Amino acid sequence: MGVTGVKVDLKGKTLKELTDLFSGMGKEPYRARQVFRWLYEKLATSFDEMTDLSRSFRQELAERFRISWLDPSETRVSGDGTVKFLFTLEDGEGIESVIIPDGERRTVCVSTQAGCRMGCRFCATAGAGFVRNLTSAEIIGQVCYAEKFLRERGERVTNVVFMGMGEPLDNVDEVMKSIEILTSELGFGLGGKRVTVSTCGLVPEMKKIFHETRAQIAVSLNATTDRVRERLMPVNRKYPIAEIVDFLRSFDPGPGRKFTVEYVLIDGVNDSVEDAHRLGRLLKRCRVKVNLIPYNENEFSPFRSPPEGREEVFREILHRYGIQAIKRQRRGGDIEAACGQLRGKIRKKLARQYGEK
Ligand code: SF4
Repeated sequence: MGVTGVKVDLKGKTLKELTDLFSGMGKEPYRARQVFRWLYEKLATSFDEMTDLSRSFRQELAERFRISWLDPSETRVSGDGTVKFLFTLEDGEGIESVIIPDGERRTVCVSTQAGCRMGCRFCATAGAGFVRNLTSAEIIGQVCYAEKFLRERGERVTNVVFMGMGEPLDNVDEVMKSIEILTSELGFGLGGKRVTVSTCGLVPEMKKIFHETRAQIAVSLNATTDRVRERLMPVNRKYPIAEIVDFLRSFDPGPGRKFTVEYVLIDGVNDSVEDAHRLGRLLKRCRVKVNLIPYNENEFSPFRSPPEGREEVFREILHRYGIQAIKRQRRGGDIEAACGQLRGKIRKKLARQYGEK
């Protein structure tokens, strides 16, 4: 039991945390490894399932601890196979995650905060404001549910991206614990290549992720001048373009690792030919890949999608600077799978039904 008499949740605990907890109970480290595997490899939801533990140890665990489990309150399947889950957390907050199928890949995009305080002007989540950070249990809980959903269909989670609601690096400790669980051989066993943290550019935390985990880093640039980026992303006042580019230039991602620059193309804002050349000049000495993403129009934002073919123009210009750029497909458009949009819709629906402000 915790100090308040509430059972401590084991979901979201790293192997080291379990080892410390159990050593306080006089248990051997291998006990922590056994429970860790049950939690994340076998997706156990109760201690009764942990049949290789003695009955008395299982009882002891059940008296002190619990295992939280997230079930979605709503599931939507898009025509292109994208699946979106809306989860209601224990305190009533709503978060969402998405499974994006692509060939053999099954990528789960998870939320890391309820709301977000970064205030990006093009983002539906920003409009809802910041509510709170998610715990590692709530972050890993999203992956556990996606894994169960896929296993029932003969598939597995192959990749995880921290790219849903919230700024992952504004909740860096819980995100780092989640990465540790995802990349552990005894946990989800995903290689570092298969786990990506997407950030709006919190440079000190990017360095932390770079040095202390094996995850990939994707940074949203979205503009080629500070004036435009500041307009789109207020975080630019703290970490301007030069600081981000300096990070990308100074660190060698090394074999098996790469930096990705995300660039959302917004009609008439950041999608000119001059922008493409400026982007090429900024990134030409960085070991990066650029993801070009056409903006997903939504009712919460004044911004518009770029005309068809704009990504191709950017891709060709960047290629001349020796930069690999790929067009990322719009996925899940018919289920509003862009960040935060489903929750926005549901809040609106609730507001109408229950008079919520
Ligand atoms: S784009 Fe990401 S960082 Fe920016 S407000 Fe939305 S959730 Fe936050």
